[in-house]
Amino acid sequence: MLFGLSKHPPRQPPPRLEIAILPQMAKASAVRLLRRMVWLAVLLAADSAAAMPPVRAVATTTIVADLVRQVGGERVAVDCLMAAGIDPHSYKATPRDADRLARADLVVSSGLHLEGKLSELLERLGRRVPSVAVADGLPREKLLPVADGVFDPHVWFDAALWSLCPALVAERLATVDPDGAAGYRKRAADYAATLLRLDHELRTRIASVPSDRRVLVTAHDAFRYFGRAYGIEVVGVQGTSTESEAGLSDINRLVDLVVTKRIPALFVETSVSDRNLTALREGARARGHEVALGGRLYSDSLGGPDGSAATLEAALRENVEAIVTGLGGER
Ligand code: ZN
Repeated sequence: MLFGLSKHPPRQPPPRLEIAILPQMAKASAVRLLRRMVWLAVLLAADSAAAMPPVRAVATTTIVADLVRQVGGERVAVDCLMAAGIDPHSYKATPRDADRLARADLVVSSGLHLEGKLSELLERLGRRVPSVAVADGLPREKLLPVADGVFDPHVWFDAALWSLCPALVAERLATVDPDGAAGYRKRAADYAATLLRLDHELRTRIASVPSDRRVLVTAHDAFRYFGRAYGIEVVGVQGTSTESEAGLSDINRLVDLVVTKRIPALFVETSVSDRNLTALREGARARGHEVALGGRLYSDSLGGPDGSAATLEAALRENVEAIVTGLGGER
C-alpha cells in the first residue's frame, strides 16, 4: 500500500507562486507594450507633422494645380478638384468638393469664368477662405475680349502671358504662409523664366510650318491666345466655352475653309467630344478633300499625373509637336 501510495502520490497542489506571478508579469509586459505603443504613436505623429506641408491648397483645374505645385514646392500640398480630362466649363461641384474647398488654406482657380458652373460657389467661398483666381489678376490689355467685359479664359496657351501668373500665386501664398514667402518668390521667378524659354521654343517650332498651312482647327475655341502668341490662325468649331453649340451653318462655313485652304489636319481635344470634328471631316470628304486627325491636343486639362503631359510645360510641348507634325512642319 505504502509502495502503492508512493507509486501513486496524491495529486500535488498547483504551484501557487507561478500562478500568482504569471498575471503580474503579463500585466507588467502589457503596460510596457502599451507605453511603447504610445511613444511610437507620439513619434510617428511628430514625424508626420514635420513632413506635413504647412499649406493645403485646393486648385480647380489640373493646369492651375501644376502652377501651384511649381510655385509652392514642398511647402504646399495641392489637392486638385477636377481630374485629368475633365472639362472645366461644364464641371459642377459635388458636396465633397464643397467640403474640400471649405477646408482649404488657399483656393486657387483659373478665373475669367473658365469654371462657369463653379463661379457662385467660388465667390461665396472667397468671402471665408483665402482665394485667388489667377487669370483675373492679369492686365486687361493683354486679354482677348469675347464680349463686352468678358474675356477669353484660356490664357495658359500663351506661355509668356502665363509667366505673369507665378508671381500672383507666390504673393497669395506668402499671405497665408509668411515663413515661406522668400521661397515662393524665388520659385515663382525661376518658373516664370522657364515659361519664357518655353515661349521662345514654341514660337520657333511653329515657325517651321509653311505659312499657308498655319491654320489650327480644333473642337472648341481654346487656342486663341496660342494663335496670337505663336503666329497661327485658329478656328474652333464651338465657341470659347464648350457650353455653346456649333450650328450647321458653322460646320458648313468650316468645311469651306478646310477645303479651300487644303488644310491637312484637324485636332481633337482631350477634354472635349470630337463629334463636331467628325462632321467637319465628313463634310470635307464629300467635297473631295481628305483631312486627317492630327492628334489629340491638351486644351483645358493636362494629361494624367503619371503620363508624359502631367505639367503645362510638357503638355504645351506635346501639343506643338502634334501641330507641327500634322501641318507639315519640320520634324
Ligand atoms: Zn475651354
